Amino acid sequence: MSFNLPPLPYANDALEPHISSETLEFHHTKHHNGYISKLNGLIDGTDLAEKSLEDIVKTSSGGIFNNAAQAFNHDFYWKSLSPNGGGLPVGAINDAIIASFGSFEEFQAKFNDCAVNNFASSWTWLVKNADGSLNVINTANAGTPITEEGITPLLTIDLWEHAYYIDYRNVRGEYLNGFWALVNWEFANENLAK
Ligand code: MN
Repeated sequence: MSFNLPPLPYANDALEPHISSETLEFHHTKHHNGYISKLNGLIDGTDLAEKSLEDIVKTSSGGIFNNAAQAFNHDFYWKSLSPNGGGLPVGAINDAIIASFGSFEEFQAKFNDCAVNNFASSWTWLVKNADGSLNVINTANAGTPITEEGITPLLTIDLWEHAYYIDYRNVRGEYLNGFWALVNWEFANENLAK
């Protein structure tokens, strides 16, 4: 068994003008696909080839972890964005954000601060703790919250430069504005209900 590149949940140009078709196509078919190809090469002929992607992420290290976690993180990132996204949170995620951060504006400021100051190639996440409270956390390189017991990821933003350099060059703050215009609250609500 080997892993296949999951299709994007929308067309390559569906996130314009915030994320260009050029960025999305390259990010998906070169970077995301590259992690899956390398993972398949590393697990071929081993016991891991029969495991789920999440199981591999939770039990591996080194190159296998890096490529498996990046495969998981990218699929989660695509789903964190939507052509119909943006605006204010709705439903249970709105209630949970207000309960944990005080207001949407305070949550957004904390998320932006974490993301702008997350050094080098990295990810920023909205997560749910085991007690139901929400938090914003940073991970580095391929780091992913699913390796932590009791932590459920709700949303993520890819902060590797390949995610935004074509569209925003080095200005990560402007890429964050694009993220807020696309953020998929429906996906956050699905994850919150898990
Ligand atoms: Mn990426």
